[in-house]
Amino acid sequence: MKPNYRRCASCRKLAPKEDFWRIVRVHSSQTVQLDQGMGRSAYLCPEVSCLQAAQKKNRLGRSLKASVPPILYQALEQRLAKARAVDGLKPDRALE
Ligand SMILES: [Zn+2]
Repeated sequence: MKPNYRRCASCRKLAPKEDFWRIVRVHSSQTVQLDQGMGRSAYLCPEVSCLQAAQKKNRLGRSLKASVPPILYQALEQRLAKARAVDGLKPDRALE
C-alpha cells in the first residue's frame, strides 16, 4: 500500500499525512479549523520551527487563501507543549 504523502506548508518536507497537523478551510463556511472538515487543506509538521514560520510568514494563510485565526496557532502551540510534556522535554523557550 502506498503511503499518502503531504507537504509541510512551512518547510516543504514530504511525509505521510499522519505525521502532520491538518488545517482545513471548510468549504461550506470558509472558516479555518484543525483536523476535521471538507475543504482546502494545508499541512504542517508538529514542530516549533514550522509553526512559527507558518504564523510569522503566513504560510498557512497563503496556502489556504484565507486568514488563519490566532486561536488556531494557540491551539497548535498547546498541542506542542503537551507533546513535549509527554516526552519529558521542556517547552521550547522560543514559544514563550
Ligand atoms: Zn515543516
